[in-house]
Parts: sequence; C-alpha cells; structure tokens
Amino acid sequence: MKKILSLIAVMAFVLVAFGQAEAQNKKSMPIIGISAAEASPVGAPLTYVDAVKRAGGVPVVIPMTSDKAQIEAVLEIVDGVIMTGGEDIDPLKGYGEEPLRALGEIVPKRDEFDLMLIRMAVAKGLPVLGICRGEQLMNVAFGGSLYQDIPSQVPTSYVKHRQEAPRNYGTHSIAITEGSLMHKMLGVKEIAVNSYHHQAVKDVAPGFKVTAVSKDGIVEAIEKEGTDKVWGVQFHPEGFVSMGDDSFLGIFKHLVNKASENK
Ligand code: MN
Repeated sequence: MKKILSLIAVMAFVLVAFGQAEAQNKKSMPIIGISAAEASPVGAPLTYVDAVKRAGGVPVVIPMTSDKAQIEAVLEIVDGVIMTGGEDIDPLKGYGEEPLRALGEIVPKRDEFDLMLIRMAVAKGLPVLGICRGEQLMNVAFGGSLYQDIPSQVPTSYVKHRQEAPRNYGTHSIAITEGSLMHKMLGVKEIAVNSYHHQAVKDVAPGFKVTAVSKDGIVEAIEKEGTDKVWGVQFHPEGFVSMGDDSFLGIFKHLVNKASENK
C-alpha cells in the first residue's frame, strides 16, 4: 500500500512538474532581436537592451552578417526586431543619389546587413521598430529617400536636431497624427523628443505614411500602412525608457505585445 501511495505521489509530482513546464512554455517571454550597431565588438548600446527589458521582452543582439541563411535562422528565433541608430546610409546604393559633401560616415557592410534583415523580417510578418538610422533605413529599404544633411539641404529647418543635452531630455517638440499608431502608443498628440540626427526622411516610401513631424516640418515618425507592426521613429525613445522615464515606454510595450502574438 505504501508503495502504491508513493508511486501515486511520484506520478502526481511528475504531472504537476510537467504541467508547470508546459504553462511556463506558453507564457515564455517574447524575444526581441536588436540589430548590431557595431561590427567589432559585436554589440548594441545598453539603452536598447534595457528598454526591451523594461517593456517585458528578452533582448538579443543580432550580429552583423552578409549571410542570408544566418539571418533566416535568427528570424526563426526572434519574435520582433529593432533596427538601431548609427551611421549615415550610402545614398548612391540606397536611393540613387550622389553623396553630398556634408554626408557623414557610411558603413557599406552594415547597410547590406540592415537592408537584408529589415526586408526579411517584414516579409516574415514580424513586428519591426526602426530607431533613428533604423527609421531612415526602413524608408530606404522600401523605396523612399533621405535628406543626406538637413542643415545644408533644408534651409527652412530652423530647429536644432543635434541636441547638446542629456539623452533622456526632450529638446524639440513633435506633432503626432491623430489616430496613428504613434498616437495610440504614446497617448498624446504632442511631445518633446530628444534629437541626434542630421539626416531625415525626404520622400516617404510607397505604402508608408508620415505620422509625426517637428515644427520645422522634418519627419519624426513613419508607419507602414495597413498594419500596426512596422514603424519607425527619428528620435531615441530608448534613451528615455532606459533611464526610467515611462513617457515613451508605450513604443516598446507595443513591440513586445505584437511580438507576443507571434509566439
Ligand atoms: Mn529631431
């Protein structure tokens, strides 16, 4: 009798343990792939990593590669993607324009990797958030163009877009389109953002729309039409969120929520 009882106890324990493992599997947190911002060492700024964590996601950095099969494999693992900020995009290869004298550093290998990654992620139906260069890259990847240098190309742009202030401090305001995804994520139609760019979206890519602009008319956010899974911002929300400021947390929460749906 004792033996039978202990056998039942063991079986019950196994069942409970199995049940818990299964429940944990179902609840497992969405994995957010962050495009590497550096070739060597492979990595991305901690601010992106911290912002994903604060929104309830698990951050992993996707190392730069020119191997399509590697990108395919990593997109099997991640549930969402963030395209990070960084250098200028090659205008000649990216959108068929000669480089202006004011163009900054370009990194062809990173362009190649980023363009493959974003196109494949979107084609796969994953939620994708582009930040700063990542937003510009999103526009270029789907057929749009950029101002290579706002100060020399847009004389009417009077706002300072290269702030000299802390990263978690908003220096210029943006107007957000009512009813847009940006509006839904942030819950406001106007907000002060940080600004670290000399390039910006010029012609918006077909199938995308502008959903936030600064007072001087510079594009500060774009969204893919007909979906709530692909969008980009010109500012750095992770700069606020990683420092504990919740005003921009909605952007990362939305990404993590959409990533959860993919699981
Ligand atoms: Mn700006």
